[in-house]
Amino acid sequence: MDNATLPSKCPGYNLYIDGFQALRRPQVLQTSKITHVVSVIDWKFPQGSAPLRGFQHLHIPLDDVYDSNILAYFPRSNAFIHQGLNYWPKTASDNARESGVLVHCAMGVSRSATIIIAYLMWISRQPKTISQPQTTSKSSSPSDSSTPEMVSLPPTPLTVDTALALLREARPQVEPNSGFIKQLRMYEAMGCPTTQEQLESHKIYRRWMNSRNVMDALSSNRAPEMADITFRDEEDDSDDDDNKLTKNLNNLDLSSPDSGITNPDISVSSPSDTTPLPSPEVELKCRKCRRLIAKSNFIIPHKPPPHRDPSADTSAEPCAHIFLHPLSWMKDTLAQGGLDGRLACPNPKCGANIGKFAWQGLRCSCGGWVTPGFGIVRGKVDQVRSAQSRARGAVAANNNGAGAAGGNLNDAVRLPPSMRRAASTNNGNL
Ligand SMILES: [Zn+2]
Ligand SMILES: [Zn+2]
Repeated sequence: MDNATLPSKCPGYNLYIDGFQALRRPQVLQTSKITHVVSVIDWKFPQGSAPLRGFQHLHIPLDDVYDSNILAYFPRSNAFIHQGLNYWPKTASDNARESGVLVHCAMGVSRSATIIIAYLMWISRQPKTISQPQTTSKSSSPSDSSTPEMVSLPPTPLTVDTALALLREARPQVEPNSGFIKQLRMYEAMGCPTTQEQLESHKIYRRWMNSRNVMDALSSNRAPEMADITFRDEEDDSDDDDNKLTKNLNNLDLSSPDSGITNPDISVSSPSDTTPLPSPEVELKCRKCRRLIAKSNFIIPHKPPPHRDPSADTSAEPCAHIFLHPLSWMKDTLAQGGLDGRLACPNPKCGANIGKFAWQGLRCSCGGWVTPGFGIVRGKVDQVRSAQSRARGAVAANNNGAGAAGGNLNDAVRLPPSMRRAASTNNGNL
């Protein structure tokens, strides 16, 4: 038999990867003890399709494109592959009855590899209890020969990169598309959930689905549905979780390479953006009425575009705007369904015009774009320490005569460079 026609076997498993051509040789599959087939391809298999006769079949109809949601299939494909690999209970006396799984797409490069990598990551996180092979030698102690000893092995979780490297040992040309790699990294960041419910209720997944829906709406020039907007101040997790998650997500660039999207709700700021977030203990308050507008952990850092003319040094000018995540006080405004509009102070007795929003993005005075943009005019708010922070005896910085509790903290609090200069400078153009 010509070896080139054999599907590639993933080391350590009876798990094979190939392109569509593998289905043309069902006898070869049977020789490899393949009992289960996963087809990751948008193709109509005729009922009782001849090549698949005699195999258990899972069909995942999906194109090999950046934004196909392959992540949603991982719980199903993992369960199917796992069942396939353990189809015949292994017994010492019946080694012949092995089972195996073939995962194929069109070329055996992107979709099928993604499904296998997800399985390898998931299975590597399951606690393993293996039975010591029964000794055939009569010389072993009697207690050993009667019952096989169960041994628990600690899981050694694979990462996307180590699982990919393992699969490439079998098939060097394996190369999931960049969108699939990002989804695999999300799956890893979530800890490789087993069930559909665990996956779909995970915060990372929900945020991602929301942002996909928002992008869908924007690409057809509609304002997003309220249900698809993630309001950061309504998420129930502790700060610790949130910080960890933000860090995880910041390591993933979920935006398409050319989208220029910087809002972490829609995508994620690029890993190269190392602008530190200001301390969560700083608050933005309406300059007119002192109503809390946002804590600084809801501020989205941004940068001027890299292609900016270096001779035009405007570094002395602070950004005129502070960009926020969508926050629950914006709901009434956003519910009106406009693609852009004014943001007013949420205090009904004040209602001062403090900024504007545009789902398609806002351009800051520094030239940087934030998309979607929820921009507060710097001069309409004061940056003050939170009450808890002051209570802990932090250095008060209200010696500038601003008169407001907490004062103006431009020098006392560590802020991103773009925020360091006086909030009093303001061109009011937003
Ligand atoms: Zn106000
Ligand atoms: Zn700016």
